[in-house]
Amino acid sequence: MSTSTVPKLFGSYTFGDAVMKERLPKAVYNSLRATIDEGAPLDLSIADEVATAMKEWAVELGATHYTHWFQPLTNITAEKHDSFINGTEDGKVLMEFSGKELIRAEPDASSFPSGGLRDTCAARGYTAWDCTSPAFVKDTPSGTKVLCIPTAFTSYTGESLDNKTPLLRSMDAVDKQAKRLLKLFGKTPMRVKSSVGPEQEYFLVDKAKYKKREDLELTGRTLFGAPAPKGQELADNYFSSIEDKILVFMNDLNDELWKYGILAKTQHNEVAPGQCEIAPIFSDTNTATDNNQLLMEILKKVADRNGLACLIHEKPYAGINGSGKHNNWSMGTTDGENLLDPTDSPEKNLQFQLFLACIIEAIDENAELLRASASSCGNDHRLGANEAPPAIISAYLGEQLASVVEQIIEKGEAEAKVFAKVYDSGVTTLPKFTMDATDRNRTSPFAFTGNKFEFRMVGSTQPVSQPTTVLNTIVAEAMCKAADTLEGAENFEEACKEYVRKTLTDHQRVIFNGNGYSQEWVEEAERRGLPNIKCMVDAIPYYKSEKSIALFEKMGVMSKVELEARAAVMYENYAKYINIEARVMIDMVKKQILPAILSYEGALAKEAADIARSSIEPTVQKEMIATIAGKAAELKSATEALEAKLTKAADLSDDLHAWAKYYHDEVFMSFPSVRKPADELEEIVSKDAWPIPTYRELLFEI
Ligand code: ADP
Ligand code: MG
Repeated sequence: MSTSTVPKLFGSYTFGDAVMKERLPKAVYNSLRATIDEGAPLDLSIADEVATAMKEWAVELGATHYTHWFQPLTNITAEKHDSFINGTEDGKVLMEFSGKELIRAEPDASSFPSGGLRDTCAARGYTAWDCTSPAFVKDTPSGTKVLCIPTAFTSYTGESLDNKTPLLRSMDAVDKQAKRLLKLFGKTPMRVKSSVGPEQEYFLVDKAKYKKREDLELTGRTLFGAPAPKGQELADNYFSSIEDKILVFMNDLNDELWKYGILAKTQHNEVAPGQCEIAPIFSDTNTATDNNQLLMEILKKVADRNGLACLIHEKPYAGINGSGKHNNWSMGTTDGENLLDPTDSPEKNLQFQLFLACIIEAIDENAELLRASASSCGNDHRLGANEAPPAIISAYLGEQLASVVEQIIEKGEAEAKVFAKVYDSGVTTLPKFTMDATDRNRTSPFAFTGNKFEFRMVGSTQPVSQPTTVLNTIVAEAMCKAADTLEGAENFEEACKEYVRKTLTDHQRVIFNGNGYSQEWVEEAERRGLPNIKCMVDAIPYYKSEKSIALFEKMGVMSKVELEARAAVMYENYAKYINIEARVMIDMVKKQILPAILSYEGALAKEAADIARSSIEPTVQKEMIATIAGKAAELKSATEALEAKLTKAADLSDDLHAWAKYYHDEVFMSFPSVRKPADELEEIVSKDAWPIPTYRELLFEI
């Protein structure tokens, strides 16, 4: 790809602004833009004209089919293709696409998880066009091209069955409440949008080796594997020069992403061997979510055609870093003002202080919910390990803002500020420049990074919508509370200062600028009364606590039944996921590991007998046989114990919480008893005898 063609390639498979402007009648274009930009209600009378333009554009690109593209609670996207063809009387076909087909569809789609929101016998569900995220033509390696129309997915009874609908509602809540506050400062922007820039971490592995690992293929992570002699201790993969094979992959990936109008910007090697990161430029939280869903799909496809496999799992390997998805979150107006920009004088910027206070209150008040929003089966392996923030929610503000907050709490307002330092290396030929006013903190789950917060707890497999919906909603509620208090104030400025002071004082316990990875912080957080929820199963109930229901209902984001459904789906997913892991473990032990060990043991016994015949004592062989036999017996009995637990688990599925809890406490917790003897055996037997690729091969022979 030559650089001159990138602008031409960019967005060429997206029905974006330029195409719409070119192909739609002006009035239709303006009406659509009003919905996209200002949140105006969608004018259904324009649907036919948009559909025709969209179809013509897609057909020119080679599309024969279209699909409503949606995001059910499986956390991946769904599509069901329909061709554009319509039969004519003379036995031919026309390529047609109506406004009605664009706006709504009614896929059966009854097998998606609904958390009890609908019975399979009452399976009607609707998808509805979301014009605020651009349609695109998906180009597959086979050459098949499909027009994908982003849609929301709801049940016949009107409840959302997807991740998009609550996200869109939460964006509306942010818009409404932020505008109330801005109005108090004399500002009336058309719309306030929450934005997110998700940094996506992933691993690459050689495809042939991946195919030999049942655990990687079926669960996304290694369930067995002794550590390689070298890990990440030298940090020599971090930002290292990118190997050619990986660069070819990354270039291929960027071309694909640019085609779909995804602003792929930054790429680098990450800390763990085989680990990389890609970050796009931020956009509104809806588009960013859709783009990230597409990105995760494209990562896998592009890896596959480059002889690689892409692992998006939060913890593919034990003993080295896992992968996260840092959600850089902010709110901005259509006038271009970033509400989290502290400007040059945060100490005097009352508007910034008010938004900051609302955010601090929101995360302190709803720490458990925010923790739940960063839950996935794989993320439990990361949180609290030495690679990701602990499961304790706290906010890092940095030196400058922390000092402003301190002054406000102490004196009611801030006067002094910490000035940004000037970089002076002492070398005359190096440039001098002004540095940022604050350092970074990479151990905080919710860190202020200049003009946005970085929610660093989120897992790499999670849809951006999950944490973002929660973040939007809790901040909207805090802004609503502030607006309720301040709208009637006689002296707004005084009242606002007092509100900021009180809010920051009440919630200062959640601010922590130290090392979030340290044991001292875990103890300090406990003294401060901050929750530390270690596993997903214990976090899920917070989605449907009375407090959460009141919050989501007040903000119009989710109803009680919708929240209960989500909790049910999460329990169910957890149980099923751990069940698959357990079954893969058992399968690998029985079909691969034990047979290989027994053959190796048999061969050693034969050798020992041969040596004994020549009147030499086979001491080493005998010792090894004894060790191997002992560990093999341990492995066999641990595997049988795991099987027994699975049998018991099958009886518990009537109570979803108890079912998931059993899977965590009993099934998941017994994985190490199976893994340990297997990994020890791997370290004893010869390389040729081990039936699956080792960590060394997976991590270093890509
Ligand atoms: P870092 O150095 O922490 O990686 P970057 O500036 O590269 O910071 O940003 C990381 C991500 O944050 C990128 O996706 C970037 O586009 C995004 N980002 C920057 N500003 C904002 C903002 N105002 N709102 C949301 N995301 C933002
Ligand atoms: Mg970052």
